[in-house]
Amino acid sequence: MSTKYIFVTGGVTSSLGKGIICSSLGRLLVARGLRVTIQKLDPYINVDPGTMNPYEHGEVYVTDDGAETDLDLGHYERFLDIKTSQTNNVTTGRIYYDVITKERRGAYLGKTVQVIPHITDEIKSHVLKLGESDEYDVVISEVGGTVGDIESLPYIEAMRQLRYDVGRKNTLSIHLTLVPYLAAAGELKTKPTQHSVKTLSESGLSPDILVCRSEYQLDSTIRGKIAQFCNVELEDVIASLDAETIYEVPLLMKEEGLDSRVIEKLGLPAKNADLKRWTDFVDRVKNPKSEIKIALVGKYVEHHDAYKSIVEALIHGGAMNDTAVKIKWIQSDYLTDSNVESQLGDASGVLVAPGFGGRGIEGKLAAVKYARTKGIPFFGICLGMQCAVIEFARNVAGMEGANSTEFDEQSAYPVINLMADQKELKDKGGTMRLGKYDCQLSEGSQAKAAYGEELISERHRHRFELNNELRDELNAKGLTISGVNPERDLVEIIELDSHPWFVGVQFHPELRSTVYDPHPLFVSFVKASLNKSEEEVKEAGLEESVS
Ligand code: GLN
Repeated sequence: MSTKYIFVTGGVTSSLGKGIICSSLGRLLVARGLRVTIQKLDPYINVDPGTMNPYEHGEVYVTDDGAETDLDLGHYERFLDIKTSQTNNVTTGRIYYDVITKERRGAYLGKTVQVIPHITDEIKSHVLKLGESDEYDVVISEVGGTVGDIESLPYIEAMRQLRYDVGRKNTLSIHLTLVPYLAAAGELKTKPTQHSVKTLSESGLSPDILVCRSEYQLDSTIRGKIAQFCNVELEDVIASLDAETIYEVPLLMKEEGLDSRVIEKLGLPAKNADLKRWTDFVDRVKNPKSEIKIALVGKYVEHHDAYKSIVEALIHGGAMNDTAVKIKWIQSDYLTDSNVESQLGDASGVLVAPGFGGRGIEGKLAAVKYARTKGIPFFGICLGMQCAVIEFARNVAGMEGANSTEFDEQSAYPVINLMADQKELKDKGGTMRLGKYDCQLSEGSQAKAAYGEELISERHRHRFELNNELRDELNAKGLTISGVNPERDLVEIIELDSHPWFVGVQFHPELRSTVYDPHPLFVSFVKASLNKSEEEVKEAGLEESVS
């Protein structure tokens, strides 16, 4: 069977959840026995999102092969239980970079290099690359942005040409649109969808299926109107209502028949969907037996997308413990030793987030100290781990003024410093220690207990590391080094043996947590936090009975 290509575009407005719809469709097709991957085509000029501020772009999702990519790839991996790579995320910047590099090499043999055909050809080759590998039955390509944007045009044109190149029966165009409810009129309105489809059709790409985001169910009259004016069959008008959790969306799409329509239209050989495990997971998320509060301390907390994978990994870890994890977002800029109790006092666990730069560091150190001294489960990720080392050095090991050279190059105790191979680098883009590296775990550690394995591998995105020159001294004062990268002897995990659960990791475990394979460290952290919260309830009960 030749690979089938599904193009997903969005209309009317951004933030309709195209990534979740693509992931949900992907999950349904995988459940029917098909091999599926998803690709994100981003129409911006940055070569990748690695140089973008989290306020601009949200989390940068890192793949095994060290690509810095869009956070939608996180959804693809979590929903489909697949691994993505650089090929799964292409930006306009990368396309132009490749075309210009070829032009400089003389690859265009004297031709004038133009958007059409050279840029569109390059886009097409990136889409086809996934199909040519013979690994997939279906490749879903999600085009970022909204139809009608100037910058999306070359992508739409490339999709139009691809329908011709690989044959209409091998391609499908899905358009995600909005059907807003106007309270004043008391009605759902189809006009924005009609306009959006018209705009798309003017570029030569007409949709086969419309997924309509709406706050209310679409009745048959509305569906009929959309079908008639947008030139699709009635069954190809799919309603997508708000869900309680994003993990419910595949089940809602199944009810609406999205996968059946896709399968029928593409003539895919598919069995009945096996969604048992998925449904069980959704049940656990929707019907928790308890609830705990975890404080997430970071400096981008106003923008939750900056911590997308952490939020999802906490949901996965919660589901495995039948508990709902409520995140208390703590802005580290305003956290101090004197207000930390009032901010973190009601949390059963503290997670200090990854990040870059000095803003909010002292607040993060206050959070670490509070969790360490009060015996509250603590999870430090990347910068969060580095903060745990700095706090320990200053307040336990007696290293006054200990710091990371990222924040203080003159520190008397540079417990965290720039990795040797980072020192000569001038370029910022794609130059961190990125992607998957091995880590050897120590016997008897929290980490070893959680993973149940000795050699693990995790994804990285950092320039600084624990300073090996101060490692023995820190260790002698009680900081346990429980995970080390065997090739370069870099410290990957630190723990405190005297604490119920205190783990700092230099890597990003959140990037590997999926619905079918929740990350062991998140499962273990949530479990420890749940224990803490149960202990507190017991203590409060005791106090009450005494008084
Ligand atoms: N800024 C730190 C470093 O570069 C931590 C990075 C992170 O948290 N991802 O090492």
